[in-house]
Amino acid sequence: VDLPIHDAVLARAAEFGSIPALIDGTDGTTLTYEQVDRFHRRVAAGLAGAGVRKGDVLALHSPNTIAFPLAFYAATRAGASVTTVHPLATAEEFAKQLKDCAARWIVTVSPLLETARRAAGLAGGVEEVFVCDSAPGHRSLIDMLASTAPEPAVDIDPAEDVAALPYSSGTTGVPKGVMLTHRQIATNLAQLQPSVTAGPGDRILAVLPFFHIYGLTALMNAPLRQGATVVVLPRFDLETFLAAIQNHRITGLYVAPPIVLALAKHPLIAEYDLSSLQHVISAAAPLDARLAAACAQRLGLPPVGQAYGMTELSPGTHVVPLDAMDGAPPGTVGKLIAGTEMRIVSLDDPGRDLGPGESGEILIRGPQVMKGYLGRPDATAAMIDEDGWLHTGDVGHVDEEGWLFVVDRVKELIKYKGFQVAPAELEALLLTHPGIADAAVIGVYDEDGNEVPHAFVVRRPTAPELTDGEVMLYVAERVAPYKRVRHVTFTDGVPRAASGKILRRELRTARHEEPS
Ligand code: ATP
Ligand code: MG
Repeated sequence: VDLPIHDAVLARAAEFGSIPALIDGTDGTTLTYEQVDRFHRRVAAGLAGAGVRKGDVLALHSPNTIAFPLAFYAATRAGASVTTVHPLATAEEFAKQLKDCAARWIVTVSPLLETARRAAGLAGGVEEVFVCDSAPGHRSLIDMLASTAPEPAVDIDPAEDVAALPYSSGTTGVPKGVMLTHRQIATNLAQLQPSVTAGPGDRILAVLPFFHIYGLTALMNAPLRQGATVVVLPRFDLETFLAAIQNHRITGLYVAPPIVLALAKHPLIAEYDLSSLQHVISAAAPLDARLAAACAQRLGLPPVGQAYGMTELSPGTHVVPLDAMDGAPPGTVGKLIAGTEMRIVSLDDPGRDLGPGESGEILIRGPQVMKGYLGRPDATAAMIDEDGWLHTGDVGHVDEEGWLFVVDRVKELIKYKGFQVAPAELEALLLTHPGIADAAVIGVYDEDGNEVPHAFVVRRPTAPELTDGEVMLYVAERVAPYKRVRHVTFTDGVPRAASGKILRRELRTARHEEPS
């Protein structure tokens, strides 16, 4: 596997030849494996001709399109490190990222060009803005396809050179640039592959964003490495999503919990033929076992499987193997993948290792642990100790057979009079209420200085009268007294990151701005 990422992913492109690699889910435009291989080499030559050099940072700023993977592999082949950018970022947010990583190049799409240009102006240091499609006055990747320049001969060291520089989701603080080498990403793909057996004939729907590490791995690198067909959608819209599954006979879905929620609860599901689906895998945020079961039952599928990881882990460490979906215990995020070590240590006494059934912080050591945070040696040292263990900040436990269960993040546990309450557990319980469409829980301080659970609840249209008293009673009847929800705010929606995570800090701000 010791190849640059583009060669590792496209190693079998010639063999897959005329199999469709990428299909635009909106207009049906198709790129075969042979085209992806040939086109990204031409674009790499074009980028090199425009001045892109080894070690440069190139910002890829685009929603999911079939050109996204071409741009990515072309840039790495030209020797650049690719930092992916949220397509909805404001010019100011984008500029911050450009500055943080000293990006010299931007690849964007014409509808986002104005934002990209403003960001480049604010950040300084950007040499040129390219577009994937076309825009007057800007070099386009499509024009580069006609490039006759020789393919760049760049000497890449897979062990040291940074291929991807994604930013963490920023759920718990400022997003940090995560340096992932070619070897780290390629190794993780190889580690995950035996569990996730996509191959020719499999059709994967890419609706989660490619710019996030989960989408980049599960929806782009992994399926393209294995000869599957990736149907690309620019954003999540339930009807388009369901129509794409039906029309493209999608076999595998890699999603996040909000989509599992929609599949389990939304009335539209019944109107589509989803019989081509063989498996659904969820990752990126806690998924409740009851919700997973409801989704699987509704679709007539084996249980929804899970995977666990984080940007800093390239990203995966645990997955429920496809052939074990039926036997895996409900709620597990999977088993540790090969070549990786895990410890679970006490939250009170971090030196003490815990056994099966005991919850503590999850530590990981392995070849997929990031090189570090860009320009933040202190943050890196706080995350990875001298022995190479990465402290995930997540709480979990394993059972006797080694299945991992993730409880929540250490930072988000609510500490009520010495007891710990996981917001994820209460959110899952709230979602079992027939009148609740969505829910999120944060810890707030009451008059006595105790941290107590505060629920934000979205009513279903069928339950417009649902009261806070009813919500609190529903929870109180089902949990130990220390876990009771003490306050309820009704809201129109739960704020989430593009990767599906609840943005609890936005709820905290919203609560402070609420009239009391
Ligand atoms: P930041 O570190 O910037 O605050 P983030 O941690 O949300 O953002 P990501 O790297 O996208 O950024 O997310 C990794 C986190 O996602 C993990 O630490 C974990 O909390 C959560 N996670 C991932 N998979 C699962 C899963 N299957 N179940 C529960 N939580 C998960
Ligand atoms: Mg994190």
